[in-house]
Amino acid sequence: MKTAPRTTEQFDVVVIGAGIVGSALARELAGYQLNVALIEARTDVGDGTSKANTAILHTGFDAKPGSLESRMVREGYRLLSDYASATGIPVERTGALLVAWNQEELDALPGLKDKAAANGYSQTELISASEVYRQVPDLGDGALGGLTVPDESIICTWTTNLALATEAVLRGVTLLLNHRVSGAEVRDDVTILHTDQGDVATRWVVNAAGLGSDVIDRLFGHDRFTVVPRRGELLVYDKMARPLVNRIVLPVPTSRGKGVLVSPTIYGNVMLGPTAEDLADRTDTGTSEEGFEFLLSKGARLMPRLLHEEVTASYAGLRAATEHSDYIVDADARTRYAVAGGIRSTGLTAGMALAVHVTGLLGDAGLALAPRESVPAVPQMPNIGEAALRPYQDAARIAADPAYGTVVCFCERVTAGEIRDTFVSPIPPSGLEGLRRRTRAMNGRCQGFFCGAEVTELLESRGESSCATSHCQKEDQR
Ligand SMILES: Cc1cc2nc3c(=O)[nH]c(=O)nc-3n(C[C@H](O)[C@H](O)[C@H](O)COP(=O)(O)OP(=O)(O)OC[C@H]3O[C@@H](n4cnc5c(N)ncnc54)[C@H](O)[C@@H]3O)c2cc1C
Repeated sequence: MKTAPRTTEQFDVVVIGAGIVGSALARELAGYQLNVALIEARTDVGDGTSKANTAILHTGFDAKPGSLESRMVREGYRLLSDYASATGIPVERTGALLVAWNQEELDALPGLKDKAAANGYSQTELISASEVYRQVPDLGDGALGGLTVPDESIICTWTTNLALATEAVLRGVTLLLNHRVSGAEVRDDVTILHTDQGDVATRWVVNAAGLGSDVIDRLFGHDRFTVVPRRGELLVYDKMARPLVNRIVLPVPTSRGKGVLVSPTIYGNVMLGPTAEDLADRTDTGTSEEGFEFLLSKGARLMPRLLHEEVTASYAGLRAATEHSDYIVDADARTRYAVAGGIRSTGLTAGMALAVHVTGLLGDAGLALAPRESVPAVPQMPNIGEAALRPYQDAARIAADPAYGTVVCFCERVTAGEIRDTFVSPIPPSGLEGLRRRTRAMNGRCQGFFCGAEVTELLESRGESSCATSHCQKEDQR
């Protein structure tokens, strides 16, 4: 992986932002004969909004028909489903159930069914209250009916971002981490991006900077949208709660968003959320007491039994909301610049479709798109989902390499072998948070209380101290 400042090299295209959208774009562009760089302000890929969402692979049944978002979500669902199968990104097709809790919501369900059909999705089904309770027996009292959405799925957002960025790097993309773009000079045939690690020269620029996409857009002379961070807080319940929630349970959506849902997670937990609160601070990903109380009050109505289970974690993500209801996607031939901004609440699903779409716009604007004759095989991502075999369960793998039998994080059953593997992967973690997203280490009910020291030691020694600690030795003797 190339991460040093590359002030002398001129790129054909620089993509700003290594979230899901930017990583998908860099990967897509690297399928052509182009010298591409992916520039990220943070120390790791996938460390912005793409790390903290509800992780649902949406069918797009409730998008605004005819919008770009509707098209991108529908197409993205197909592309990401196929990509997940090819790379091993964990996905579970749990299906979703929209529940009506009052007459107004019940009356809205047939319209939502029609809207789904207008969005190209005809598999929804209206069901009675008794069928709602048959499907989700632990729902709170008072449900009047429902609409099933059988193809809504849960997915690992962390592995999705990492897979896309990893494949971009394997295809030759230069990943420049720790490079915050602060200025842009568009000259006749080159654009100079000023970053806090020096200048980067490129012919074309693609802005996928998420919460910073309006700021970058202004560097290119535009004033067409402003990002207002819309915080979504979520509660994560212990794995003991998982049998209560066998599918995604959605409220009837409103103009402000999809509302508070209950969903299984790909890691075997249950999540409740998100909230929707507009903030002024684009960095405020902290959770709040009000958010916690609000979610508990919603949970009490949705599924009172859930409140008897333990909350093991809470987190918040910031949606890049704007004054526009649709994504802001455009390419400008004169400044050799494209934007994919304001990708508010469906970008995990839509990212790969946006990458294809924006690449097409760049081609129309004059970027030469000659496909590469061959591209490397897609990466095989480590499985951190509960639905498929994990290394600690795999006897053959453990026999071949005992490090996969040495559990370091007991809550999440993460082994020394998996942690070690991250350090030799194309995009190694830069810190504990990155390691957590790659392995689930410290992500369980103890939140690193028991394994934190050992995981830190493994990180600091880049896996060399594996099994040297007293804890590992004890495990080996069992
Ligand atoms: C609570 C919540 C729930 C959601 N649920 C879902 C869901 O269930 N399904 C779904 O499909 N979507 C969901 N989303 C939406 C989805 O998470 C986002 O649309 C998606 O992650 C946006 O990706 P992105 O690449 O545009 O932005 P980001 O992931 O934020 O990436 C942008 C990157 O640009 C970098 N950057 C910014 N400024 C600069 C700069 N000046 N220089 C260099 N780098 C810069 C940032 O550091 C960041 O890494 C949800 C979002 C939230 C907040």
